[in-house]
Amino acid sequence: ASSNHIARIQPLPDQLINQIAAGEVVERPASVLKEVLENSLDAGARQIDVQIAAGGIKLIRVADDGRGMPREDLPLALMRHATSKISTLDDLEHVASFGFRGEALASIAAVARLSLTSRTADGEHAWRISNTGAEQTPAPAALTAGTVIEIADLYYNTPARRKFLKSENTEFAHCQETLWRMALARPDAAFSLSHNGSVKLRLTRTDGARRIRELLGSDFFDQARPLEVSAGDLRLSGYAALPAYSRATRDEQYFFVNGRFVRDKLLTHAVRQAYADILHGSRHPAYVLFLELDPYGVDVNVHPAKTEVRFRDARGVHQFVFHALQRVLAAPLAQLLPAASS
Ligand code: ADP
Ligand code: MG
Repeated sequence: ASSNHIARIQPLPDQLINQIAAGEVVERPASVLKEVLENSLDAGARQIDVQIAAGGIKLIRVADDGRGMPREDLPLALMRHATSKISTLDDLEHVASFGFRGEALASIAAVARLSLTSRTADGEHAWRISNTGAEQTPAPAALTAGTVIEIADLYYNTPARRKFLKSENTEFAHCQETLWRMALARPDAAFSLSHNGSVKLRLTRTDGARRIRELLGSDFFDQARPLEVSAGDLRLSGYAALPAYSRATRDEQYFFVNGRFVRDKLLTHAVRQAYADILHGSRHPAYVLFLELDPYGVDVNVHPAKTEVRFRDARGVHQFVFHALQRVLAAPLAQLLPAASS
């Protein structure tokens, strides 16, 4: 356009709005998988089977045994800002589900071929909807229960984004990591994961300790101190490894806030500080920690991916995590070194 041409303001088309939103939510196949797994768990699923092809770029297929969706809800599931999880500001401030923004499926559908097949407990049969081809209105389908979502050819229509993807193996590794986080948070659910037709992981329903041992191994587990500390409405539980099991990288650091995996500066700092006196600065602690608090005390609506959180009482949370962890880490050392005990 010439320099004196005035570009007029116009509303963006829906598809473009969704593709812009997808830039925030759908960074790579693993972020698609995260959203889809969260939806399955929000739907009460206890068995979740994941099939990945070509690192998730070609296919991500997730089958769950959750509540399912009735026919009329299928088109709404793909619509932006449509959700079954909240309806008021009050709901938002007390949100207990993973999802609430109602934009994940709309975003994914804007950058991939997507189909949803779902059946509710009282449905006579399943219904299927897809964002391509003839099935853009629900059609009868076969499925015994729950929901199957298939996401194929990620970024097929946005090649610029596709260029940012790494190798299939790297993308699959990220998908596997996403499933681990979910599996650590939800030992009450069974998971399976396959890549290019071969089974990579199979987890049956169990308790938290067994799930952690299964995923992180007995090396971690045997060197880790269990903890369970409460103060007011704050509760910290999980396992923190002693320095003997420290790592060269941050690869075994799992922190969950109200069941949600987070990467949070404040929490990482509190943990680091609790290890300060016993761990060399070049080593990284390994831990699986669960912080629970009243949903009102934490804002998860900071970023679409929701791995950042904001605490109402940031100082209080920092102090609590630091002291709880420091005490647990110090106790066994005091036993090992009787001279240092008081
Ligand atoms: P959100 O999770 O924020 O509500 P999504 O775009 O992820 O938004 O999903 C939209 C809606 O689709 C959800 O609110 C839910 O009602 C429905 N949904 C998605 N996946 C499933 C599933 N696996 N089982 C049942 N319902 C689902
Ligand atoms: Mg969701």
